[in-house]
Amino acid sequence: MSIHPDNRADLLEISDQCVMCGICAPHCPTYLKYRNEAESPRGRIALIQALLHNKIPLDEKLKQHLDSCLNCQACEASCPSGVKYGELIDGIRVQQRAQEQQPNRAKEKLLEITASNKKLRNSAKLIRLAQLSGTYKLLSKGIERFIVEQPHINELLPERISARQNWAEQYPAIGDEQGHVSLFTGCIADIIDQGTLQDAITLLTHSGFRVTIPPHQACCGALHHHAGDTTRSHSLAEANIDAFSDNNAEHIIHCATGCGAHLMAYGQQLTTPKAEAFALKVDEISHFLLKYGVQKLSIKPLTEVVSIHLPCTQRNVLKQSTTPFDLLKLIPGLTTKPLADNNFCCGAAGSYMLEQPQMAQQLRQQKVDALQQSQAGILVSSNIGCAMYIAAGLRQQGQAVEVIHPISLLARQLKKR
Ligand code: SF4
Ligand code: SF4
Repeated sequence: MSIHPDNRADLLEISDQCVMCGICAPHCPTYLKYRNEAESPRGRIALIQALLHNKIPLDEKLKQHLDSCLNCQACEASCPSGVKYGELIDGIRVQQRAQEQQPNRAKEKLLEITASNKKLRNSAKLIRLAQLSGTYKLLSKGIERFIVEQPHINELLPERISARQNWAEQYPAIGDEQGHVSLFTGCIADIIDQGTLQDAITLLTHSGFRVTIPPHQACCGALHHHAGDTTRSHSLAEANIDAFSDNNAEHIIHCATGCGAHLMAYGQQLTTPKAEAFALKVDEISHFLLKYGVQKLSIKPLTEVVSIHLPCTQRNVLKQSTTPFDLLKLIPGLTTKPLADNNFCCGAAGSYMLEQPQMAQQLRQQKVDALQQSQAGILVSSNIGCAMYIAAGLRQQGQAVEVIHPISLLARQLKKR
């Protein structure tokens, strides 16, 4: 049965599937931290049921328990009864947003900026100018408060944002063409991590794919969807479906598992034939490259220890936990190690790192400590949000570990033709 999460009856149906066994509790970061039933998946489900039956009000206390959930979906992945916790919490956030009398200004600003390429790029330009002119330290508080309205954004940004390059609409295959793919560039990634996108183009073209980059694509809308802002998330989804429908690519490739998990859900969310066709074409870059012959490329050896971080969306939603390991096996001499406690969220969780900084920082600290113990010189992560957040934690502690996407490491070792 297809469930529409913003529908109360459907939310009750999801919550009623929970048999309250508690098997999910040890997988939940907030439960492990607080040891409080109301901070566990089972507790939240019980609270949501009571709310939907109008037995309790949506007061500040309840909001706190719901807002402290990372939506990491570790509970859903471990639930033997198949409770769709992700849909439940997303659905309840739609109801929460509808009832909000005083919207959270910082959150609204984030949703507004990320929904508009123009606003996002203008904000980035301003920050870059301040960084280049040496006035950034002086202006950073003002930028935080008045431009982006995010009290913790500055610590997340790289010390120098590079000037954004425009993409060509097409990059031809190198050698015989074996297919045509389109690249989803993302909103924030297309500003602060164009290097990963360039590496994706390099690997795809060397693997025989013609790559097109639809110019009118937009943010995936995941942030908006998980904040209950279905108006914006649906309009962003429609913009992307239109942008990618023009060029008839056989596959739509993304380089961020957080965005990809959401792009793959367009069909379920919009329930139109066009949205379903779009969703079926979406694939994660490393996963795609492994399926379509990246193994044939000549790769230089590298003697290095690399720690692999698994984003929640890669592990719990895409279920592709082995993908970065399989990809990096292609580099001779490389030692890969899973980052300890990879089964727990790093705290980034979309906008959670900005909204719940205390809990987020505690979770990140566990990653930073684990990385220090691993003695790896490089950390790879397949999601831009996690990579940015962990890199900021490492910077703050003066740890010189490079954080990159696994495909960037592979592209670096590629013997180019
Ligand atoms: S969500 Fe699943 S694992 Fe957790 S208590 Fe309910 S049925 Fe058990
Ligand atoms: S989504 Fe994550 S934080 Fe939220 S209840 Fe499930 S395991 Fe806990």
